[in-house]
Amino acid sequence: MSALVKNIMEKMVEDKLEQMLPGLNCCKCDTCKTDILCYSLNRLKPKYVSTEQGELLSRVDSVSIPYSTAIMTEIAAAVEIVKKNPHHH
Ligand SMILES: [Zn+2]
Repeated sequence: MSALVKNIMEKMVEDKLEQMLPGLNCCKCDTCKTDILCYSLNRLKPKYVSTEQGELLSRVDSVSIPYSTAIMTEIAAAVEIVKKNPHHH
């Protein structure tokens, strides 16, 4: 089986978070970033695509545009939650 089923929402949220991070007023350690990712992904609908290995990265940009606003909204909400409930001190 050469084709893969991938939830590319994961990659889209990850990319968007990296873009937004410098402007976010929150802890930027890996623990908090992962928490923000999980929270956002649980609230966003998964977006599954079938893809050949290696093809994924080139497709993410064009697919992500319609989801951009929703992703940013969920990341902003996630940041507020994680700030109030950090998993570390
Ligand atoms: Zn942190």
